[in-house]
Amino acid sequence: MGAERTPVIAGNWKMNGLKQDGLALAGDVAAGAGTHACEFVICPPATLLAVVAEVVAGSRVQLGAQNCHAEPDGAHTGDISAGMLVDAGCSHVILGHSERRADHGEDDAAVVAKAAAALAAGLTAIVCVGETEAQRDAGLALDVVAAQVAGSVPGDAAAANTIVAYEPVWAIGSGRTPTPSEIQAVHAHIRSALADRLGEETAAAMRLLYGGSMKPGNAAELLAIEDVDGGLIGGASLKAEDFLAIAQSCP
Ligand code: PGA
Repeated sequence: MGAERTPVIAGNWKMNGLKQDGLALAGDVAAGAGTHACEFVICPPATLLAVVAEVVAGSRVQLGAQNCHAEPDGAHTGDISAGMLVDAGCSHVILGHSERRADHGEDDAAVVAKAAAALAAGLTAIVCVGETEAQRDAGLALDVVAAQVAGSVPGDAAAANTIVAYEPVWAIGSGRTPTPSEIQAVHAHIRSALADRLGEETAAAMRLLYGGSMKPGNAAELLAIEDVDGGLIGGASLKAEDFLAIAQSCP
């Protein structure tokens, strides 16, 4: 972790959480976040954003969504714009998660359009990239991830409004992770792809998160990796105790 990059611990609740449990979880995270050195973001389902915003108001916990539409408004039944997320109290939005790329056919062009809309609305975009197991086995992990970075991160992205999350698809929810040296190799490659796209200074300052089966038992090792500046946590973000324990592991 670079000394100048404040770590980010972000929780991706995915499609989990009804009002009662979600408000309790958010409240517990907000209450426990006081003493940690990292930035906290929680990303509940869209139905809970406005109510969770009230729970985390005044705490160190920031609010993120899990998706947005590329257009600011209009005839897009079922979709939510970046401006609506701001209106609900969000400061962040996860974009290009592999589950959205797989389940909703989102390609890099769709993700970069959403990210541009998010930045224009004043949100911080957490742009996700990551290879499948077949791509890793074929030796393509670095190429796939670099192409996703080039295609999914807007050309005017800044370190202050964009975070990149490396999430190997095969590590998500599987209990498996790459080795620290494999993660470092990908993160260094992402930083160099960002330097090509955004310049050295922006690339050096941008936070790069690791995601995929991060939990209290492996967080210290993963968060100590040189170019890992925090985590995007799925399953373990659904228990305040585990999420806070991961944050406690930030170097
Ligand atoms: P996981 O999910 O921590 O449950 O592996 C991470 C993610 O998909 O963001």
